Amino acid sequence: MDLSHLNPSQLEAVKTLKGPVLVLAGAGTGKTRVITYRIAQLIRSGVAPEKILSVTFTNKAAKEMLQRTKPLLGKSKERPWISTFHSLCVDILRSDIEALGYPAKFSILDRGDQESMARKVLRNIRVTEKSLRPGDLLSIISRWKTNGISPERAGEVVEDDQEYLGSLAYRRYQQNLKAQGSVDFDDLLLLTVKLFQSHPEILDKHQKRFSHVQIDEYQDTNGIQFRIVEALVRNHNNLLVVGDDDQSIYGWRGAELKHILGFSQYFEGAKVIRLEENYRCTDRILDLANRLVKHNRERHQKVLRANKTAREEVRFLDLPDEQSEAERVVHEIRHLHESRRIPLKDFAILFRTNEQPRIFESELRRRQIPYVLMGSQSFYDRKEIRDLLSYLKVIAREDDEQSLLRIINTPARGIGTGSLEKMMSRAVRQGVPIWDAATQCVNEGEIPIKTGDAVNRLHSQFKSWRVAFQNSPRELDTLTQKLMNEIRYESEIERQYKDEQQQVTRKAVLEEYINSIAEYVSRSSSASLEDYLDSIALERRDEEPDKEAMANADAVKLMTLHSAKGLEFPRVYMVGMEEGLLPHKRTIDGTEAEIAEERRLAYVGVTRAQETLTLTRAASRRKWGKPRPSLPSRFLFEMRAKSE
Ligand code: ATP
Ligand code: MG
Repeated sequence: MDLSHLNPSQLEAVKTLKGPVLVLAGAGTGKTRVITYRIAQLIRSGVAPEKILSVTFTNKAAKEMLQRTKPLLGKSKERPWISTFHSLCVDILRSDIEALGYPAKFSILDRGDQESMARKVLRNIRVTEKSLRPGDLLSIISRWKTNGISPERAGEVVEDDQEYLGSLAYRRYQQNLKAQGSVDFDDLLLLTVKLFQSHPEILDKHQKRFSHVQIDEYQDTNGIQFRIVEALVRNHNNLLVVGDDDQSIYGWRGAELKHILGFSQYFEGAKVIRLEENYRCTDRILDLANRLVKHNRERHQKVLRANKTAREEVRFLDLPDEQSEAERVVHEIRHLHESRRIPLKDFAILFRTNEQPRIFESELRRRQIPYVLMGSQSFYDRKEIRDLLSYLKVIAREDDEQSLLRIINTPARGIGTGSLEKMMSRAVRQGVPIWDAATQCVNEGEIPIKTGDAVNRLHSQFKSWRVAFQNSPRELDTLTQKLMNEIRYESEIERQYKDEQQQVTRKAVLEEYINSIAEYVSRSSSASLEDYLDSIALERRDEEPDKEAMANADAVKLMTLHSAKGLEFPRVYMVGMEEGLLPHKRTIDGTEAEIAEERRLAYVGVTRAQETLTLTRAASRRKWGKPRPSLPSRFLFEMRAKSE
């Protein structure tokens, strides 16, 4: 390790090995570098690697930090602790959760498991979905857990009827989880705090494990995470945190800016170090970033100077529509890669919402350019898309029973699992389609007449859809949207999730799906439902099998602004710079604070770029399959404000 790779302020942070230290500095000033060099410095001064704990936000960031640290450690095989808050808690709980009455081999629930548990609990305590929906219950519980409120205390903080019911359900939910030996994501943090509070001897053991603790991206640490760290370092206060208030982008998850601002009050005598030199971006990129973030009122004034001068200007591209936006970006990447031998992994395409990458993905595929979509669920794996695809498959092939079973009671039509089982076993026994089995079951009194009627109604709906799709193959998008309305799929979403954010994202997925069908129709000469389903199947088969390997391979990276935090790329495309995307449509009529958070997100994006930055926007974008004009993002004006 060569300490000459650090400037004087960085060096001061790296050499301060005792007591609380806060490094407050803008993007790209080497905060993460301070953490990695300080790990090496601590080891060099005789601290055992396993006694040093460094915590960061995402798995990706943890991996990156480990990679940056390794070369500094020389040949040493010993590993310092680098983890996320959640994986740190998993580790602590695996060793000691039995003290709280959970099995050491507890399982961690995913969202789907959580939803069925919520439903079950509400049924048990006889709360109808009208009074409290499962999705809303989960939002309430998560909010309480994030704020460190246990089921016992929830009753005290209740503010309305829903929360009252929520507090009753919370207790049950928690008991059930415990009874089956499982925890949800929020529990990982909450149970760790609880464990530390109720078992001083266990806390003591973990305090002794770590003599030095460091936290990256401190601006996004929430109250409960802070309590875990505070407990761990209480005896020695050897805690170094680094952060940038301008990059706080998890307000909605309960990250509290006040921690970064209150650090020196909480830890008396904390040393505060500021870094002012940005080593990542060129001066032109940094100018833009500074101009943008100045529009936020509540922030620490900071100096941020660029260390590199630019050869290339930041570019703004106005494209007519989203298809040409994707074509243009992909064409440029291909051109630069082929003519100037620029590696593909130098390119990143950053976007605000999870629906945006789809069109870039298909364009990259079409041009056979390797890419990796980081940290998002594949579009076609989403529940909403899988549901609608199942409808289309049954329309195309009446005997596709697997697809039929997926949606026979989605949205709910009163076809219960009991009846379904009877129908299925009869269908298998007699070798008849489920539709016929249903009629037989009714005749034999095996299932209620009402259920039989529901099945018959669905059957005739499918018949008429089949006729419609066959007659007008080029209206695939409109027909699919009509189908969606007929089955009232959107109301189903509203029924399941009262949480507005959930509704907005899920409806956005549906909208993007209709857009994708419209695009398919417009580019294929012989559009038909069957041909469409084939094209989806092929696209799915080509999907990258091993994301992990791809991340290191020479491939273009696609990711959301949220997951790009802390990372850097030589060439960045920030796409969809439009009102409604960035700032997100949810925030447009919102408060100034919400817009400020979107602005910080844009700031995070801009400051990822090392060499070149290209901002693009489309003048028209499909909404529900139809092109609609869209306005350039207000942030474009703010960034350009001074330069022209
Ligand atoms: P962010 O706020 O985005 O997380 P950061 O403050 O953590 O950024 P780093 O990622 O640590 O910044 O550093 C940004 C870039 O600058 C990295 O490529 C890093 O290697 C380089 N860098 C940091 N400090 C120096 C230095 N003193 N000399 C040269 N390069 C440096
Ligand atoms: Mg960093």
